[in-house]
Amino acid sequence: MSDGKTMTISVLRPELATQIAAGEVVERPVSVVKELVENSIDAGASQIIVQISGGGIEQIQVTDDGMGIPSDEVALAFKHHATSKLTTQEQLDAIATLGFRGEALPSIVAVAGVTITSRPQGEQAGHQIEFQWGEKIREGPQGAPPGTSITVSELFANLPARRKFLKSNSAEAGRIHELVSRYALAYPDISFVYSSEGRTSISTPGNDRPAEALLAVYGREAAAAMLEVHSDYSETGYKIDGFISPPSLTRANRTYMSFFINRRWIQNRMLSFALEEAYHGLLQERRYPIAVINLTIPYPDVDVNYHPAKREVRFHQERTVYSTMQRAVRAALMLDSPVPTMSSGNSFSTSAQARPPAGSGPGFFHSPFNRSSTRAVPRSPARETNVAGVPGPADAAATYQQALPALRVVGQIKSTYIVADGPDGMYVVDQHAAHERVLFDRICRHAAAKSPQSQPLLGPVAVELTPSQEDNLRSNAEYLTSYGFDVESFGGTSYLLRAVPTIMTGQDPARSLVDVLDLVAVDGLVRQHEDVLAASIACHAAIRAGKSLTEAEMVGLLGQLEATDSPLTCPHGRPTLMHFSDYQMERGFGRR
Ligand code: ADP
Ligand code: MG
Repeated sequence: MSDGKTMTISVLRPELATQIAAGEVVERPVSVVKELVENSIDAGASQIIVQISGGGIEQIQVTDDGMGIPSDEVALAFKHHATSKLTTQEQLDAIATLGFRGEALPSIVAVAGVTITSRPQGEQAGHQIEFQWGEKIREGPQGAPPGTSITVSELFANLPARRKFLKSNSAEAGRIHELVSRYALAYPDISFVYSSEGRTSISTPGNDRPAEALLAVYGREAAAAMLEVHSDYSETGYKIDGFISPPSLTRANRTYMSFFINRRWIQNRMLSFALEEAYHGLLQERRYPIAVINLTIPYPDVDVNYHPAKREVRFHQERTVYSTMQRAVRAALMLDSPVPTMSSGNSFSTSAQARPPAGSGPGFFHSPFNRSSTRAVPRSPARETNVAGVPGPADAAATYQQALPALRVVGQIKSTYIVADGPDGMYVVDQHAAHERVLFDRICRHAAAKSPQSQPLLGPVAVELTPSQEDNLRSNAEYLTSYGFDVESFGGTSYLLRAVPTIMTGQDPARSLVDVLDLVAVDGLVRQHEDVLAASIACHAAIRAGKSLTEAEMVGLLGQLEATDSPLTCPHGRPTLMHFSDYQMERGFGRR
């Protein structure tokens, strides 16, 4: 030391040593939730309820209906290295449970107040113990349903230095929400319920249907868009299951890429690389997919006893893991929905085959993979290009200027598509997508000009909102107003709706608002909120598939579509029309 004195070495007081060790396991509130949820999963729970307040700093409660802990072992569970999951050295080489060190409960109890109530299945009563900073302050029998409930309060109140490093309550709560979402998706056989400040924002059915867990976590539209990954590699014994987003559904960061190894959530750069590599050429720069993927591998192939919080693992066959992940994801992407064009071969196939490279060959419609988001297309009213030209070959890198070719309406099919004759072939327009684009542009134009087109209702309409709809209402209040909604709070979860956007006139106003709020929740994952809102309104107000249109209506619609800035895609980025080139038809009919 600089003052020249020697240091005195001494062994740390046990409480201090425990607090230091606890820091490795419990970094922030979400670490507590992770350990408790993992314990509930290990206990065979079919339902896990996570309730927090104050971002989890104030309180976290995790309740399960698992096997419970015998009353004479509850206190033991809080001792260091006390575990029911591991007894022999051999087991350490093939760990099948999420926990194995017996360090979580002692760590948590060292840095918070903890109350545990547990009743083993088949027992008549439960047992409760209350701890304060590691000291047992009360113990006794307690009536309780079978299972375990652990309440952790005032995290780090005894360690102000640590507490200072925590973020705001809402940021900490956000991490917990993400964590529970991940586990809910990886364990569709368990019902997860998550609430913060009494508001429930996740509730999965636990019926072992992955698609339903996905729906509960991400909502209707995103869930419908996600692609299933499922590959089995018998030669290695590796298996991959999960969901990935199509290239059109992306996020601005990697937060929504979740990986599980044998259903243990881990963080691993190599797996992220493998996933991103599989999307190579399909995503814009700095856009990332949404993914929840579980890799099943033989237990001895992975060392899970590597990181204090068990967040990282080591693979014995890194290369195999990498290529398995990449192959499985690529395969799922290739099976994605058909490309919006006829194949360039001589068949009319739109089957799930490898998609053509961007801009391949003449006559290809813009593939969805170079469409980028609607944001990439300038919204300027200046449209200097060939209004009558054929959509040129897409240039993956460029911000392309879209223009609609001059079209002559031939008729309508399935009350859904408008068939038109145009330069170099036939065009089929999706009437809903086309109208969505028209309305979207109109809404954005009026909002930009600060002249919302609003239709006052004859009398105010009362609307009841769910907590997540209320969240969306609050975070989008300004945009809702600029697009023509007039909503005010009416106490509790009730709201009064006084006006709707003019384009929604004639529809059930309450339904319109609720639908828009729900749609925002889903699309909000993907793009700018203002766009999302306008797109939701447009989607809701646009003519539906299944509506017959007169010729005048069809001609009118195509005229309006032509006047938009991006006539070739709907505001969600899907195509408004498909092109069947002369060449393709000639090939198809064997004329060439
Ligand atoms: P580990 O999970 O590594 O065994 P923990 O400190 O997390 O260590 O838990 C210690 C022990 O307490 C577990 O091995 C288990 O026997 C018991 N336990 C903890 N949580 C639960 C629970 N929710 N249900 C049943 N038993 C539990
Ligand atoms: Mg544990």
